[in-house]
Amino acid sequence: MAASPLDSAADSAKAYHEVVARIAHAAQACGRAPADVTLVAVSKQQPWEAIEPVLAAGQTVFGENRVQEAMGRWEGRAEGLTLHLIGPLQSNKAREAVTFFDVIETLDREKLARALAEEIQKQGRRPRLYVQVNTGEEPQKAGVTPQAADAFIAACRRDYGLEPEGLMCIPPMGEPAGPHFALLAKIAARNGLARLSMGMSGDFETAIAFGATSVRVGSAVFGAR
Ligand SMILES: *Cc1c(COP(=O)(O)O)cnc(C)c1O
Repeated sequence: MAASPLDSAADSAKAYHEVVARIAHAAQACGRAPADVTLVAVSKQQPWEAIEPVLAAGQTVFGENRVQEAMGRWEGRAEGLTLHLIGPLQSNKAREAVTFFDVIETLDREKLARALAEEIQKQGRRPRLYVQVNTGEEPQKAGVTPQAADAFIAACRRDYGLEPEGLMCIPPMGEPAGPHFALLAKIAARNGLARLSMGMSGDFETAIAFGATSVRVGSAVFGAR
């Protein structure tokens, strides 16, 4: 039997508070301040009835993986919010992405760096940027390889005037995530990047132990998609 919208709304507020508490606990467990870890609530594919109670509870940072879907959901409602693009970005969507998002986490190739740099120049709007690293070197997954990361970050800075604030990864399914989080932290440290976007519903506590400064949590907050 399907849950009624009312039930799912009550559930998402409760689940949201639980995730916030688990983040605080995981931070404290490794001597970090809870405020040092930002929850990016991943609202992709979720019905508004699941999102509204989380907004009402005070959450202001949301993640989306598709530009058009995000604009449909958040246009006219984005005032005071911080919206993160966490899905692959085609360079022909760079204009919309720069207009609409506050943070773009999936910078992973020069063509996209060039397109974003052009739009930033044109629009005078400068979204915060993360470089996505394909730590598991999975052929189907976006992201620069670990071997190419240093050169790519250098090219972003030198050739495109972009200043990424951190790195993002999505570890392979069915593998322990810890080594991937450790690798991302190592690449960030040697490139002078202070921020790490890593950890999802199944592994955000592990990610916090490895230094995540933001975790991207969808289903544990809003329910299954
Ligand atoms: C969907 C998605 C998430 C959230 O995944 P959950 O397992 O639902 O928490 C996080 N990061 C990215 C890049 C995603 O696409």
